[in-house]
Amino acid sequence: KIVVVGSLNADLTIYTERLPEPGETLHGEGFTVNPGGKSANQAVAAGKLGADVSLVGAVGRDANGTMLLESCAAANVDVSHVHQVPGVETGVAVVTVDASAENTIVISAGANGTLSPGDVAEAGAAFEGAAVLCLCLEVDLDTVEAAAKAGAEAGATVLLNLSPYAPIRPSLAALSDVLLVNAHEASQFLDGEQIPGPDAEAPAWEPVLRHLVARGLPSAVVTLGADGSVVLDSRAEAGKRIVRIAPTRVDAVDTTGAGDAFTGGLAARLAAGDPLAEAAAFASVGAALATTKKGTQAAYPDASAVFARLKA
Ligand code: ADP
Repeated sequence: KIVVVGSLNADLTIYTERLPEPGETLHGEGFTVNPGGKSANQAVAAGKLGADVSLVGAVGRDANGTMLLESCAAANVDVSHVHQVPGVETGVAVVTVDASAENTIVISAGANGTLSPGDVAEAGAAFEGAAVLCLCLEVDLDTVEAAAKAGAEAGATVLLNLSPYAPIRPSLAALSDVLLVNAHEASQFLDGEQIPGPDAEAPAWEPVLRHLVARGLPSAVVTLGADGSVVLDSRAEAGKRIVRIAPTRVDAVDTTGAGDAFTGGLAARLAAGDPLAEAAAFASVGAALATTKKGTQAAYPDASAVFARLKA
C-alpha cells in the first residue's frame, strides 16, 4: 500500500508559442481547468498503475475541490483522508505550456496551506501497513515532517520529492529514504554546485552520492527530463550504486506533471517489491509516456502500456 501526503491543485493551463518575458502579454489558446497538484498527481499516477493508494490532503468546498476528488476516485485513490475545508478555496496552479512543451507554474496554496501535523495524526490508520510514503513540498514543512515520522514508524519507504525546492532540516532528511529531484532541484540541494551533464559517466556522479550521504540521505533519483534519470543508492552493492537510466524517446507535447508520473510509478513498483533501480526504469518509461498527451492526470498511463513499452 502507498500513502501520499500533500497537495491537490486545480491546474489552470494556457498553451502558448513561447513563454512570456516579465511584463509581456502573449496570446495563448486552449485554456483548460484540470486536476493537478503534485501529491494528487502522484497518487493518481500510482492508482492508474494499479497500486493501492491513500491520499491525505485538503481541498476547499468548491467546484475545483469536487473535480479533484472525482479524478482521484476515478483512479481508485482512497480520498477518505482528504478534508473539504470550509471558507477556503482549493489550491490552484497557473500553468503556461509553450510549443516545445516547456512550462512555467505559479501556485496558490489555498486549502493545501491548512494541512497540518494534526491532520496527519488524524489520518493515522492510513499509515498502517504502508510500504511507501510519497511526500512533496507543496504543503507546510512541519506537516511533511510529521508525515515522514508517521511513515518511518510504520516501516514505509519514505520518498521525498524536493519540489518546489526549499531547504530542508536535517531531521527531515534523516527520516527520508529516497530523495526525488529534477536537475534544477538537485543543483539547489547541492548548494548550486553543477550536476554532471547528460553524457556524464557514472563516476561523475560520485560526488553527488557522497554529498547525499553526508546530508543523511541513503539514496536519490535525479530526473533529467528528455535525458532520462540517474539512480544514486549508497545501499546497493559496489558497482551498482550509480545507475544511469536511458531516456525513453517520445514525441513530448506536454511535460507538466512528468516528475509526478515518475514519482507515482516509482512508488508503485517499490510497493510491489522492485529494487530502486528497477523501479526507476519503470517510472522513467511511465513518465515519458505521460508527456505524449496534453494534460496531467488524464495523460498518465496504465501498467500494461508501460510494460509494453519496456519490452519494446
Ligand atoms: P520535472 O517534471 O519534475 O521537472 P523532469 O523534467 O526531469 O522532471 O521529468 C521527469 C521524467 O519525465 C524524466 O526523468 C523522464 O522520465 C520523463 N520525461 C520528461 N520529459 C521528457 C521528454 N521530453 N522525453 C522523454 N521523457 C521525458
